[in-house]
Amino acid sequence: MSGQNNDNTVLIIGAGFAGLSAGIYARMNGYRAQIFEMHDKPGGLCTSWNRSGFTIDGCIHWLVGSSPETVMHDYWEETGLVPESEFIYMDEYARYETKDGRTLIFYSDLDRLEKHLLEFAPEDEDNIREFIKAVRMCLRLDQPSVKAPLFKRIAKMIKMILFFTVNGNKLKKWMKVTGTEYTSRFRNKDLQQALNELWFPEFSILFLFFIFAYLQKKNAGYPLGGSMPMSEKLEKRFINLGGEIHYKKKVVKIITENDKATGIQLEDGTIINGGRVISAADGYTTIFKMLEGKYTDESIRNMFDNWKLFPSLIFFGAGVNRTFGEIPLAVSGFSFPLKEPVVIAGERIERLPVHLFNHDPSLAPAGKTALTVMLHGNYDYWKNLSTDRPAYEREKAVIAEQIISLLEQRFPGISGQVEMTDVATPVTFERYTGNWKGSFEGWLLTPDNADSMLKPLPQGIPGLRGCYLCGQWIEPGGGLPTGVLSGRRLIKSICREDEKKFRTTTGS
Ligand SMILES: Cc1cc2nc3c(=O)[nH]c(=O)nc-3n(C[C@H](O)[C@H](O)[C@H](O)COP(=O)(O)OP(=O)(O)OC[C@H]3O[C@@H](n4cnc5c(N)ncnc54)[C@H](O)[C@@H]3O)c2cc1C
Repeated sequence: MSGQNNDNTVLIIGAGFAGLSAGIYARMNGYRAQIFEMHDKPGGLCTSWNRSGFTIDGCIHWLVGSSPETVMHDYWEETGLVPESEFIYMDEYARYETKDGRTLIFYSDLDRLEKHLLEFAPEDEDNIREFIKAVRMCLRLDQPSVKAPLFKRIAKMIKMILFFTVNGNKLKKWMKVTGTEYTSRFRNKDLQQALNELWFPEFSILFLFFIFAYLQKKNAGYPLGGSMPMSEKLEKRFINLGGEIHYKKKVVKIITENDKATGIQLEDGTIINGGRVISAADGYTTIFKMLEGKYTDESIRNMFDNWKLFPSLIFFGAGVNRTFGEIPLAVSGFSFPLKEPVVIAGERIERLPVHLFNHDPSLAPAGKTALTVMLHGNYDYWKNLSTDRPAYEREKAVIAEQIISLLEQRFPGISGQVEMTDVATPVTFERYTGNWKGSFEGWLLTPDNADSMLKPLPQGIPGLRGCYLCGQWIEPGGGLPTGVLSGRRLIKSICREDEKKFRTTTGS
């Protein structure tokens, strides 16, 4: 990534959060930014869709950086998401109902969580105390907002340096422990299983500690209105800054000359030239299709050969004519045990995770509720099935019926209240967002790549000038904040290449 560039046009592939962020920061710094998006809407995975008066939200559970005390909040102000968004905070992260009728609650408040876990599983006192201690350690990792008074920022920066000096090795140790390794030490099987269910078992456990640290600090609220309004806010900010966005424009090729990116080619054959190309689209497509696999190195091959993917999903949505006042709001919902294990599209499940959107009245008519169920989907199974459209549609209808009958076990009578159902499969995710194998968040953050939490991955393409990556395929762990950080960091480094001071503004 070096060398001055005379053409100040930046061609950006993809209008997900990362592409929009790159566009926004490019405009703030005087580049001509053009986004090419294959869909007809902004947001990529951060999306929602309307069905029969209900809105199915396909993404947002929580947004890290909702607290004005934090530097991430500054970036949301720069990208136009705040102050326009109203956040709510839930008392619980998740609920886990056991086979013997008990309920394990993962409270957002740490003291309450510790007390409850100790009551639930006193035999795990040592493990619970260690868990809470690790979360408390993460609480102290805190980069202050640039709006904080200077003395406060300096004090916090000194605290951070001290923090890393004292705790750096502990952080590194936890980074290298997977969820499965960590939870195996718990004696209480329900607690062990529930912790495994909270996040991906292959994930670095450090991330789980951060989840509870964010909750405790009220730094991960739910933005009322859900996903699509968030994406529209970033789109608006980009356009208001003078950015150009072109929908229904699928990019098939990044054009190169003498190992320098010079433009892009669209599906209809149109060629657009520009000084730089940023792909904020799927990583595999970018490297192996748009660039035909000509620019790779050992580390890129290692990524695609060995790193683990967030799975693809069967994403069920329903609109029901009832409310669920008896079930408290929880960031990621609740799960209950099934009377008998069942097989859904080839996958055996013993519990059903349900996300009730009773906290957001904008997603359903009064007195009604939108709910979703997310299950792991087997990409190859669905890809094969999708070649026979009627069979694919039949399977989706069967799944909708199966899930409703499972919900009936927990909510007797619900089948008579269902007004709408919708099933998205791994193929749906692939078709709408292009993400490799329908993965819903790119790379899992595992001990293999957790170092990227401390040292971000390079955003250039080996051997190719003027071409860059941003978004979840270059940010293990994925997520909306990392998408925005990725776009911001990239434009900052492009400014550095051009020997320009990186500038930001706030607004909508
Ligand atoms: C069910 C679910 C729940 C989630 N919950 C949360 C949450 O609570 N909090 C959170 O922070 N994150 C959450 N995420 C993750 C978050 O949505 C993603 O990590 C993030 O949106 C990824 O942004 P991105 O811009 O990197 O990629 P994407 O959103 O995938 O954007 C890529 C864009 O590129 C476009 N594109 C692809 N190929 C081409 C092409 N050839 N030509 C033109 N355009 C192309 C796509 O259409 C898409 O718009 C969730 C995701 C899902 C699916």
